[in-house]
Amino acid sequence: MSRADLSEAGIYWQSRMGNNADGIGGNCHRYDVVTDGARGSLVVDYGIKIHNGGDSYDCSFPSPEGLFAKRGQATSADAPGALLLTHSHEDHLGAIRHAIDMGYRVPPIYCSPFTAELVRKSLTTAGIVEAERKPEIHSVGPGETVRLAGADITFVPVDHLPGASALVLRTKEAAIFHSGDYKFDATLPLGDRADPDLLRRIGKQGIDMVLSDSTAAGDPRPKVTEKEIEANLQRLVAAQEGRAVVAGVLGTQLDRVVSLGRAARASGRTLVITGHSLVANIKAAERSGHSLEKAIGAPIVEARDARHLNADKALVVTTGAFAQPSAGLTRTADQLPGALYIDRHTTIIIPQRAIPPVAEMHRDMVDKLDRMGATVITAERAEEQGHGVIHQSGHAIAADTKLLYTLLKPKQVVSPMHGAPGQIEANGDIARSLGIKALTLPGNGTVVRVNQQGVEIVGREAPARIGAIETAEIKQLPRARPGEGRRTHPASVYRYDRLDETGDTVLSRNVDAFDGPIRAARAGAASRSR
Ligand SMILES: [Zn+2]
Repeated sequence: MSRADLSEAGIYWQSRMGNNADGIGGNCHRYDVVTDGARGSLVVDYGIKIHNGGDSYDCSFPSPEGLFAKRGQATSADAPGALLLTHSHEDHLGAIRHAIDMGYRVPPIYCSPFTAELVRKSLTTAGIVEAERKPEIHSVGPGETVRLAGADITFVPVDHLPGASALVLRTKEAAIFHSGDYKFDATLPLGDRADPDLLRRIGKQGIDMVLSDSTAAGDPRPKVTEKEIEANLQRLVAAQEGRAVVAGVLGTQLDRVVSLGRAARASGRTLVITGHSLVANIKAAERSGHSLEKAIGAPIVEARDARHLNADKALVVTTGAFAQPSAGLTRTADQLPGALYIDRHTTIIIPQRAIPPVAEMHRDMVDKLDRMGATVITAERAEEQGHGVIHQSGHAIAADTKLLYTLLKPKQVVSPMHGAPGQIEANGDIARSLGIKALTLPGNGTVVRVNQQGVEIVGREAPARIGAIETAEIKQLPRARPGEGRRTHPASVYRYDRLDETGDTVLSRNVDAFDGPIRAARAGAASRSR
């Protein structure tokens, strides 16, 4: 943060990406803590922004320059000493593997046990298996406080997905509440619930600034809880007697899988799961103490073990709610080999609304499934057809936003983040309506100082981004543990370009070669092809 004066004590916040008017994704924040004459730094979240069609990159993310040190090089004095993760969505942690691919050393990671499981999975999938490339990962329990960079940092459970946490950063000069993605829904079946009493106590200790999720802040509708969604799904599934039922979710949407599982159980159907990421996430949840089977009250069966089941006695849950290219439902729509069989006796339920970047792909997929003769019930159609609401945003709507501010009573300022411009404005308006000042979009790169003198913008720099393109070469990488079945496993290889802060201009192409086994695998492939 070279362009800001960090001499005064306080906490300095800077968004590196994900906080401008260019859409959601690539969330990353840098905090510099100046207290007792010392300075410590840390990073909160390091995610990707998914690009869909239209542009040439598969994803982009905040450049690791100025955040992490290169492997084999000395760590500079102002390099952050820790990476804290609020939760396990790709737009909050998906860039970790890329920074390591690019040869950077990621500092020790602090996150909830479930998030830790998914970070480990993401690294293994990317072929990052050697000890010297893997970052340390520390699990932090709900409500626990760790001392990092000179600040006390408390992980506060919020309702979003299992292990989702808000963070309170506190020194004697300042306290910031960083919401991460959150909403209030006491009926979510998995994970620890947001506790209004705890939030009130945190507020009483004093909060100077709240940074809060704006994604759905402009939604004025009354809240629909997961319990109500479960009841609607239960009625919908019960009405499908004699038919096959398939549901398409997001691989991380495990609370909805529980609702589907309970609906299946009520209709005497067995919940069958298929899709690599869904199965892996459910296993990761089990390992970190969030048992879906316990929450459903019935066993979950993997598709390969369900061949004996009649189609009308199963509810098959697969991935593809966003029509992602490799997801189960997308593969079915494209009639790829090994995809689920569907016909006019199949009902497909998609209890998720498509977000704008995937809307077109989603429409395409639903079209194809319609043409195959299946009855497709999307979240929109469910409401039109009188089945009720079967999806609710995972983000705070207006009522939740108001509740958060009422509980925390921030002393000085709210800074809306994470959302489209209209939503960010709506979030600010809610704060103002409660008599709390709100900053108007201090975009990426702006450095904001918080201390007892107030909240002040003290500088700005233009943090670069990296655009990643999968080069479509699948490399066989060595297994983490020898003797684990096949000796190698496939991993995608990316090319990285350095982009300006808007992502529109390429500053340099192919900025960093891969290191470690990926380079070795490339050299091997090249020599074989000669
Ligand atoms: Zn999220």
